[in-house]
Amino acid sequence: MQLLARSIALAYNNLPRPHRVMLGSLTVVTLAVAVWKPFVYHTDQDSYQSKPISKQVLLDTQQVRSLLPEASEPIDDNDSPPATDIPKDELDDKTENETGVHEYVVSTGDTLSSILNQYGIDMSDISALAAQNTELRNLKIGQQLSWTVNDDGELQRVTWEKSRRETVTYDKSGSGFKASTQTLKGEWQDKVLKGTLDGSFVSSAKDAGLSNAEIGAVVKALQWQMDFKKLRKGDQFSVLMSREMLDGKSQQSELSGVHLRSGGKDYYAIRADDGKFYDRSGSGLARGFLRFPTLKQYRVSSNFNPRRMNPVTGRIAPHRGVDFAVPIGTPVLAVGDGEVVVVNGGGAAGNYVAIRHGRQYMTRYMHLRKALVKPGQKIKRGDRIALSGNTGRSTGPHLHFEVWINNIAVNPLTAKLPRSEGLSGKDLRDYLATVREVMPQLKI
Ligand SMILES: [Zn+2]
Repeated sequence: MQLLARSIALAYNNLPRPHRVMLGSLTVVTLAVAVWKPFVYHTDQDSYQSKPISKQVLLDTQQVRSLLPEASEPIDDNDSPPATDIPKDELDDKTENETGVHEYVVSTGDTLSSILNQYGIDMSDISALAAQNTELRNLKIGQQLSWTVNDDGELQRVTWEKSRRETVTYDKSGSGFKASTQTLKGEWQDKVLKGTLDGSFVSSAKDAGLSNAEIGAVVKALQWQMDFKKLRKGDQFSVLMSREMLDGKSQQSELSGVHLRSGGKDYYAIRADDGKFYDRSGSGLARGFLRFPTLKQYRVSSNFNPRRMNPVTGRIAPHRGVDFAVPIGTPVLAVGDGEVVVVNGGGAAGNYVAIRHGRQYMTRYMHLRKALVKPGQKIKRGDRIALSGNTGRSTGPHLHFEVWINNIAVNPLTAKLPRSEGLSGKDLRDYLATVREVMPQLKI
């Protein structure tokens, strides 16, 4: 089968482009039908291997032609450039997670499967984990989940921080997951760390006694208010950390609040019970994101799929974004406030634009006819950044759109994006009580 796939791929590459497009499209339909059928009608392995494919080969031209409207679906060869295209700075070292570890704070409406699914974790992995460990149905707002996957994107380990004292780890074992509970023995202590900028924020924060992880937490908490590169000598900061101490050493820590004074202005971010940061009055700090990068909502022609099989080469080639069937020349909008970091052309992605939003978010827009922005340009949510097109490796007009959170591509249609809502009701009252407690400690 592999040999066959390889020789087909070779022959395919020698064809002129229009033929390639047509053949590629036909292959997609053929494979789609071949793969789809067995899941519906045959559940045992044997019939999956043989029957449907041989049946499919017998499809006559008439039948194939009847499927063609779908076959003309624009597809891209999903060779989106790696995220290493994006220029990095000193702050990135501090805000990036430990390699391969994905972190997430549980928020309203989340379930184990909705969280993992938006990161492209396979449903079979999620069910294997959830079936054996039913307590995972009781995720609470503000708790932290982290997980690791192997090179094939299979879930290896999930860590659930139930409380500051108790963490449960689930390790892949055979076809299931084995749970183990760790109870922390240290004491949580509050510590205020203050400093004045002399050089970069990172070096000044280190001098004040913050660890790398703590600097990362501060930068993330203030990401929507502050461009840390713009801080100047003499700017002051005060940070309240809660640290778990054992034998005089900090085991782990949590940022409770930060106050920064820059150019005579005061900026605050204080943590609420939901694990998010708000300003002194309980307003949300992030300006919300648009879900779609166009004025009107277009049909999805290809979904986010980190394990997508390339129909031609038979290899796994992740589709890190979602494709919208958008006519050429449609205005493409920035989904959030941010800074243009890449405007590029020529590769498989065609003309493309990448935008950074705060420190943790990035969006990319590909196969554009024309970019309307320049690298370094600051943009607002809803700004026109490009006109859509069909450039690069693409078989028809469409817009390929990606969302990255903490350097991981997520499903743009389901990912939790920053929202601008503040707190209300009891949450707000609780928060304001916290603010009254924390603010005096953050005096500069
Ligand atoms: Zn695509």
